[in-house]
Amino acid sequence: MAGEKRVIRVSCPTCKIPVSAENPDMPFCSPRCRLIDLGKWASGAYVISEPLSDVDKNNVDIEDD
Ligand SMILES: [Zn+2]
Repeated sequence: MAGEKRVIRVSCPTCKIPVSAENPDMPFCSPRCRLIDLGKWASGAYVISEPLSDVDKNNVDIEDD
């Protein structure tokens, strides 16, 4: 077991291929995959719930009987 190297293994979040620790685009394998991941955020693939605005709350709360 001589000469064992410590290798950091990271998988590209976009295409899942192994990325070497020396890759400047870590954890992505390439600038392209980095952009694809950013694009997911921009297109709403990751949905962040936003609180209703005060105007919406007021409209929903009307109960006139
Ligand atoms: Zn990739």
